[in-house]
Order: sequence, then C-alpha cells, then structure tokens
Amino acid sequence: MKIAMIGTGYVGLVSGVCFSDFGHDVVCVDKDPKKIEQLRSGIAPIYEPGLEDLMAKNVNADRLSFTGNLTEAVDGADAVFIAVGTPTRRGDGHADLTYVMAAAEEIATAMTGYAVVVTKSTVPVGTNRQVKQVVSKANPKADFDVASNPEFLREGAAIDDFMRPDRVVVGVQNERAAEVMNEIYRPLYLREFPIMATDLESAEMIKYAANAFLATKITFINEIAALCEKTGADVKMVSKGMGLDGRIGDKFLHAGPGYGGSCFPKDTQALARMGQDHATPMQLTETVIKVNDQVKRRMIDKIVDLCGGSVNGKVITVLGVTFKPNTDDMRDSPSLTIVPWLVGNGAKVRVVDPQGKREGEGLLPGVAWNEDVYKATQNADAVVILTEWNEFRALDLKRMAKRMTTPVMADLRNIYTPKDVKQAGFTAYVSIGREGFG
Ligand code: NAD
Repeated sequence: MKIAMIGTGYVGLVSGVCFSDFGHDVVCVDKDPKKIEQLRSGIAPIYEPGLEDLMAKNVNADRLSFTGNLTEAVDGADAVFIAVGTPTRRGDGHADLTYVMAAAEEIATAMTGYAVVVTKSTVPVGTNRQVKQVVSKANPKADFDVASNPEFLREGAAIDDFMRPDRVVVGVQNERAAEVMNEIYRPLYLREFPIMATDLESAEMIKYAANAFLATKITFINEIAALCEKTGADVKMVSKGMGLDGRIGDKFLHAGPGYGGSCFPKDTQALARMGQDHATPMQLTETVIKVNDQVKRRMIDKIVDLCGGSVNGKVITVLGVTFKPNTDDMRDSPSLTIVPWLVGNGAKVRVVDPQGKREGEGLLPGVAWNEDVYKATQNADAVVILTEWNEFRALDLKRMAKRMTTPVMADLRNIYTPKDVKQAGFTAYVSIGREGFG
C-alpha cells in the first residue's frame, strides 16, 4: 500500500514510521519546514523511545520518506491519513477542526486516483462526514471514501502501543474503503490483534468515550486520595485493593497531581461541549474536568504548607515537568499550573527534567534549568516530585537531604515511602492520599 501521512507530530510520525515497518510505502508530510529538515537528517522532532532507530531502519529500506510537499505525497496514494492537531478552540471548548479541514481541502486537490481519506486525529462525531463534504466540494471529480481510524497510542510507549494495540477501530461507509483499511492493518490482523469495524460515528465516539473514561478513573482515585488523607487510609493500598478486582483493573488508578497531556484535557472538554450541543449534558465528564482543576490547586496548597505557609523567597527544586515520563510533551502538564504559581509567589524554582527543557524553556519563564538533581537540590528549601521519571525513582535521598537547607519533600507521585524519606534525614514529607510526617 502507498500511504501519505499528513502531520508528523506524536501520532503522525509514529503511525507513519510503524506503517512503513509493516512494509508499506509511506511518505510523511508536514507544513513545518524545520520538522521536515530534521526528519530528513534522521532526527525525530519529538522524543519518543525507539523512534529514531525505527525511522532510520525504514528510511534505509526505502519505504519511508519526508516532504513538505503534500501534492507529491498524495499523488497515487491508496490512503491519505490526516494526523494533524485538534486542540481546544479558544473560548468554547470545542475541538478546533481548522487544521483537519485545511488538510482535507489540500488533499482533495492533490488526489489523482481512488484513495481513502482517513482521519486519525481525534475529532468530534460528525467530522468525517464533514471531511467528505469538504473534499467533494474542493474536487467534485475526486474518487474517494472517508474512514475514521482514531489512535489510542500513549506517548512514551507509542511504538509498542501501535505495534501491539489492544484494538484498532476503523469506521467506514462501504466495503471498498474497508478493504483498503484491512490491507493496511493486515500485519496486525495476522497477529490476531482485534480490528473492529464500525460506522463513522461510532468510531469517532469510541475515542472520546475511552479518553473520558480514563480521565474519570484517574480523577476518581484522586478524589479518593483526598479522603484518604483525612481518614488515615493509604491510597496506594486502596488502589491496589480495588485494582485486583478484575471488573475494575489496576490501570489508571494511581493518585497524582491531576491528569494533563495533549489528550485528556482537550478531549474531555470537547466531549462536554458535544453533549451541550446535543442537549445531552455529559455531567460526569463536566464534573471530572472541574475536580481535576481542583486537584492541581490542592497540590499548590500542599507545597505551601510544606514550606511553612509561604513560598516567598524559598528555593524549590522541581523534579519533572513533562506531563508524564518518557515524553518531552508539556501540553497541559500539571507543572504548567503549579510552577508558574510558585514563581509568581516569590519562589526561586530550579527544574530538572530529562526531556522537558526544549519545550519547557518557553513555557516556564523565570525558572533555572539543571541537569543534575544533587546540584539542583544544593541549599534548596524544598524538593517537589512532579513527574515520575525513572531517573527520580532511586535517588540517594541521604545525599540530597544533607545538601538541602531544609530537607523537606512533596512527592506528588508517591514514588517514595515516608519511612525511607525519614530515614534519609528529611524533616517533612507530603505525598498523595497517605500520611506523611513533619
Ligand atoms: P501534534 O501537534 O504533535 O502534530 C500535528 C502536526 O501536524 C504538526 O507537526 C503540524 O505542523 C502538522 N500539520 C498541521 N496541519 C498540517 C497540514 N495542513 N499539512 C501538513 N502538516 C500539518 O499533534 P499530535 O499530538 O500528533 O496529535 C494529532 C492528533 O492525534 C490530535 O487530534 C490528537 O488528539 C490525536 N491523538 C494524539 C495522541 C497523543 O498522544 N499525542 C494520542 C492519540 C490521538
């Protein structure tokens, strides 16, 4: 199959590279010339474990290339995937479809033979039908079908998720498009990963329903964590005890500083908006959005309490600012709420993050970036763990405590135990949903 992938972000690039690894001929397109230049010299513009190696393998095998020229890529393609961003539209919470529709129009005028126009971006129900109209209007002679193929990969584990998915969802309107999609995903089908065929609307809804459900699960345990703090229960034990129930499952039950990232915040907002538009309010999701905002604010209170009631003039070392480990993605990360608040209230913030600096520098003005945790905690008044990078999971806490002015820790990912932190010489410790000390 010949595939054109429009957009080389976290989803487009990973999907394009993986499709080429399946043996398809893939041309990845981006309108950002800097990204294309980097990709052509073998550099991935995003951090995703294993991506550059897989990219190099398939470029060398002549199955994968990069261009800024959409027309060239779409010419003769069996399928054209739209994997551009669908951020929250300013002001109203809707998914902004500007990029999707612009791409659809460009694709329409570039198509030369039958092709399936596949939307991989997360888009509200009804969008694929709109894409169909846009393409037909821009090129009334175009011979094409549309397909909805939402993506479920997780940043940080994206290649494995793409190659070994729990399921692939494909929404189509006819057999011709289904055949092309089956051919594209045949390597997964042969390995017995479930490929689920649906109508367009159900495919679009599955993506939002899945993300809103996961965001609800996280928010549920965060709320339980708050109650654990007041009652003496330990949320780690509670989530373990809940997760062992097969009907619940143990995933997405880790209490933390609130969900963030490029998907959950915008997708919950878009689902809530969709509900309002159809006079069917998504009341649970609307509450989840509110509660998640409160969770982030509660984290600020914890840090302030730890610092004795004010952060003014305090040196605070923040470990991790990306929204989760193994990615450089900062979109809607809890750090973007917490760190600016600390800076704005007079704290001197030092940040250590294995991959966050490139994005974070522009987003977190007024902080000092450090590479070394021990240097960054020298003479610090408090250390705050915001992202559970592996690098932060086995720190020499004694060494850290000795160097700090006041050895106190806010562990907002529950990666240490109060006992270990106390033994290392810390004088105060707060975490999520369990007792600390100091
Ligand atoms: P992104 O912002 O990282 O990448 C989008 C890319 O598209 C950018 O490089 C941009 O330059 C390019 N682009 C925009 N318009 C273009 C055009 N007309 N022609 C060529 N290139 C164009 O976005 P992302 O994180 O990859 O997300 C893409 C979509 O996938 C979104 O709808 C998102 O909700 C969905 N999604 C994302 C994830 C994730 O983990 N990031 C997971 C599942 C689904």
